[in-house]
Amino acid sequence: MKYIGAHVSASGGVQNAPLNAKAIGANAFALFTKNQRQWNAKPLDPKSIEAFKENLSNAGILPKHVLPHDSYLINLGHPDSQKRQKSYEAFLDEVRRCEELGLELLNFHPGSHLNKISEEECLDNIAQNLNRVLDLTKNVTMVIENTAGQGTNLGYRWEHLAYIIEKVEDKARIGVCLDTCHLFSAGYDIRTEQTYAKTMEEFDRTIGFGYLKGMHINDAKVELGSRVDRHHSLGKGKIGLEAFKCIMQDSRMDDIPLVLETIDDSIWADEIALLRSMEKANN
Ligand SMILES: [Zn+2]
Ligand SMILES: [Zn+2]
Repeated sequence: MKYIGAHVSASGGVQNAPLNAKAIGANAFALFTKNQRQWNAKPLDPKSIEAFKENLSNAGILPKHVLPHDSYLINLGHPDSQKRQKSYEAFLDEVRRCEELGLELLNFHPGSHLNKISEEECLDNIAQNLNRVLDLTKNVTMVIENTAGQGTNLGYRWEHLAYIIEKVEDKARIGVCLDTCHLFSAGYDIRTEQTYAKTMEEFDRTIGFGYLKGMHINDAKVELGSRVDRHHSLGKGKIGLEAFKCIMQDSRMDDIPLVLETIDDSIWADEIALLRSMEKANN
């Protein structure tokens, strides 16, 4: 069975996110547990934590189907050691917020080398910070997202993600989130049954489906291999609906959060219904 939702608003408090998910017919969702464009955030209010757990349970959504996303400011691979430390501290805070909410996953973008250090050094920095965070925390799995490879962002090749996983000591708490817009933009084709099968086979060989903990379901405004991150609504972009049908009929995507980050939130309920109809359709 598939667990489908969207990256919903937590405006007014994290407790509102499960309500927003329920309202669009979702049984999974993503959220920011703090303002994603600011370094500092007030600790979560105990009342807000209680209300979050209650609303989640009332919505019938399990913690493992919630995929929180960290702040856009964090760069665990930052070339400057002071700035890297600041990112590490902010990331640790994000993990602790997830723990407080009873959540099990934290989705993050690997990091950027900013043309100051090699790709390898940057990936080493990321793995080192993950090991530090894993040592200090207990229940949250770190979920690395593949990127489009825009600018100096790493994580656009399966090999980058595999390299980080290889260097992480606690392999039980490291995973991957595949963003369909990002992988297409990074040059992995999924537009037909054949190209989808080939790309997923390559993913399985390089990383392994055992590490797949979630997906971002987005069409792309940009062409294959353009390395630009521009999401689009399902079926309106350059990927097309066939790829999403392949995902919905692929049992390897069962039991993980499949989250829309498409650009028009007014049609999320329709997009979720569309994905559900694809899951049921007989080829
Ligand atoms: Zn994404
Ligand atoms: Zn994106």
